[in-house]
Amino acid sequence: MGFGSSSNSGSAVIDLPASVLASEPKGAMAHGQDDGLDHHDHASGHDAHELKGGCPPRIRLITLITVVFPFVALAIVIAAMWQVPFHGTYIAIMVGMYVSTGIGIGTGFHRLFTHKSFTAGPYVRFFWAALGSMAVEGALTTWVAEHRKHHQHSDAPGDPHSPHAHHPEHSEGVSGVLYSFYYAHVGWLFHNSPTELERYVPDLLADPVTNFVSRTYWWWVGLGMVIPAALGGLLTGTWTGVFLGFLWGGPVRTLVVHHITWCINSVCHLWGTRPFRTSDHSRDNPIFGILAFGEGWHNAHHAFPTSARHGLAWWKVDINYIVIRTMELMGIIKNVRRPSQKSLDAKRRTV
Ligand SMILES: [Zn+2]
Ligand SMILES: [Zn+2]
Repeated sequence: MGFGSSSNSGSAVIDLPASVLASEPKGAMAHGQDDGLDHHDHASGHDAHELKGGCPPRIRLITLITVVFPFVALAIVIAAMWQVPFHGTYIAIMVGMYVSTGIGIGTGFHRLFTHKSFTAGPYVRFFWAALGSMAVEGALTTWVAEHRKHHQHSDAPGDPHSPHAHHPEHSEGVSGVLYSFYYAHVGWLFHNSPTELERYVPDLLADPVTNFVSRTYWWWVGLGMVIPAALGGLLTGTWTGVFLGFLWGGPVRTLVVHHITWCINSVCHLWGTRPFRTSDHSRDNPIFGILAFGEGWHNAHHAFPTSARHGLAWWKVDINYIVIRTMELMGIIKNVRRPSQKSLDAKRRTV
């Protein structure tokens, strides 16, 4: 999930595994077909799937600003507590924006657009594409391309942000773990070569809705800043409220969403349990199962990438799945995919 737009050059051929793109026949998972184990594609090679030259300087600069500015905003709102009366309204705005944009990433960018865990009409697709864009994690097409590549190569060469597959000279001891964590968490954003969009997201480029929202990405980022500013002004009736509503609900909220999302890439490939057999190091981590609205049940997700439900036990809270189930009951989405009991049993680890 970088911040810039990748080039569109490259092959137009989709050769990603069916488990990532959900291109197997409708209902296959419910009938117990295999899903997700054979998703490494080493034979096709790493370099063949990304553009040469590393991360372009312009994208590095945009990424640097997007990573650093939220910390500056946090310092300003903390300093402001000594200057102006603190309003609980700002925390409410921040939490509301965090929950909505975080679910925009999980339900929208990840489960709908990356893995096609359910299908939706144009208005619903537009809603989730726009809401996910407000999380400031890059344009939809770029985000999905990088995440599909992560599943294709997970924890092997070619994975954009694996803590296990980069810089093996740093792989020993505590410093190695810290470096792996840093690289998977945020370092990869500055080193990753742009991913070939036409190869990884031809479906999103061909869809007028997702193509439009991706091309107008920065407008949605702007709207995600204007909404909390407007709420701050309306709820406090002051211009200070506009400014602090913007800071709390915009960049400070972005800081929280970013680092919780990035923990799925870093923490959830390092620490947690592995209830299912997968060929990578993905982990179920309860902390991020809750904080990331279900995304932290990451071992289950790698075992069943197209499943709309990641919390595959009654006690594994999965807010994104509750949102998806609610939309299904409302009749506004269809073809919600869930692994069959036979698939679950086949992949469950017994030791
Ligand atoms: Zn992963
Ligand atoms: Zn995924």
